Amino acid sequence: MAVDFRFIVIGRGMMGAAAARHLSSMTEGIALMGPREPEERKVHDGVFASHYDEARITRTFDGNLAWGTFAARALDRYREIEARSGISFYSEVGCLFAGPTPKDEQDYINRALTVSGTLGSDIETIAPSDLRQRFSYLAVDPDFTGYFERKRAGHINPRALVRAQARLAEQGGVSLIEATATSVRDAGSHVEVTAGGRSYSAERVLVAAGGFSNFHSLLPRPIDTRVMARTVVFYEMGEREMAIFGDMPSTIVLGDREEDHIYILPPVRYPDGKTYLKLGGDTEALSFQKLEDAGAWFRSDGSAAERDHLSRIALQLMPELAGCPVTSGPCVANFTPTGYPYVGFTQSPRIGVLTGGNFVAAKSSDELGRLGAVLLAEGRLGDEDFGRALTPVFA
Ligand SMILES: Cc1cc2nc3c(=O)[nH]c(=O)nc-3n(C[C@H](O)[C@H](O)[C@H](O)COP(=O)(O)OP(=O)(O)OC[C@H]3O[C@@H](n4cnc5c(N)ncnc54)[C@H](O)[C@@H]3O)c2cc1C
Repeated sequence: MAVDFRFIVIGRGMMGAAAARHLSSMTEGIALMGPREPEERKVHDGVFASHYDEARITRTFDGNLAWGTFAARALDRYREIEARSGISFYSEVGCLFAGPTPKDEQDYINRALTVSGTLGSDIETIAPSDLRQRFSYLAVDPDFTGYFERKRAGHINPRALVRAQARLAEQGGVSLIEATATSVRDAGSHVEVTAGGRSYSAERVLVAAGGFSNFHSLLPRPIDTRVMARTVVFYEMGEREMAIFGDMPSTIVLGDREEDHIYILPPVRYPDGKTYLKLGGDTEALSFQKLEDAGAWFRSDGSAAERDHLSRIALQLMPELAGCPVTSGPCVANFTPTGYPYVGFTQSPRIGVLTGGNFVAAKSSDELGRLGAVLLAEGRLGDEDFGRALTPVFA
């Protein structure tokens, strides 16, 4: 049977748009399907995404070789994507980790130092006595050591990166279908996708719907994943604060306790015209199994208790934030039990899945998209791409 498309990528998010771009340089007959960001988040009752924001930390410093490699490969392509698309999204302001001196070889920081040696990343270790002087916006514990990656690190604008990927995909001949898929079915010789009241056929489909991949009937069997709530806190910056925080790098503080870990994005301008410093943590326990519940979370302002918890830590670390107007917002992180993203086929040899960002995949999304493209076009991933580790687990 003649199909409408060779491949359909479902999900016009960070990984899906990247996959479509990479596929466009491999073959013809590609479609990228997904809705655009809702204009009115608080009344929208469809699907949402984890990239509706202006800043995500990027770095190669990572305790895991696969994740560090994905980040480094993506980072090495940022400038080319910017130049070709005409859309800039990367601010190379560096990334600072600060934390207690590592206790043993298995400590995150020691593993990350080993990985950075393998990747050729340049990490400067900053002694506790120098840390507060070099990075005066940050009032960390006097015993904390710093690890500063000045090059190949900083932040990216995730909305702009998705726009750049989609623009290049379209220029490469990819058809954009602005619709939400409501069913994906292996019809034996091809795959049928229903979206927006229409049916589309393809030889193969890649489901890259982020935290919404298990909702609707996109996969033959659900993947094993936890879609966790994450609250983001925004501090509105005035001139006084910009003089203090304006030049800071992206920052991750590893507290003595896990609930004290915090990531901080330097001030960036948001679509409302204001400039915000943004921060968040990684310990919220709320998770979602249903579209309605995830939707209700995205229509909220996140958790007030988490906002207050994060604000307490923020004011200890950055006392100069006192008095800034504070707001919060919702997001979801999609965690896999393997700790790796899923890039592999489902029970159907025609339906692949690309998701499982584990709260860290924005920076690496271009490389993960490439892996999704290789999977669809070639049918498998090799060891050089950590293929085995990326095998999806089903619920
Ligand atoms: C608060 C927060 C902070 C983060 N900070 C960082 C950071 O600093 N650095 C970092 O590297 N990563 C960070 N991340 C992680 C990063 O944002 C995610 O890993 C990344 O967005 C995942 O990309 P994705 O393509 O899998 O999902 P998404 O970007 O969510 O894209 C999924 C897309 O699928 C679409 N979709 C859903 N259902 C359907 C359907 N049925 N049909 C069609 N389309 C559909 C959605 O509209 C969406 O566009 C953070 C995440 C959160 C929540």
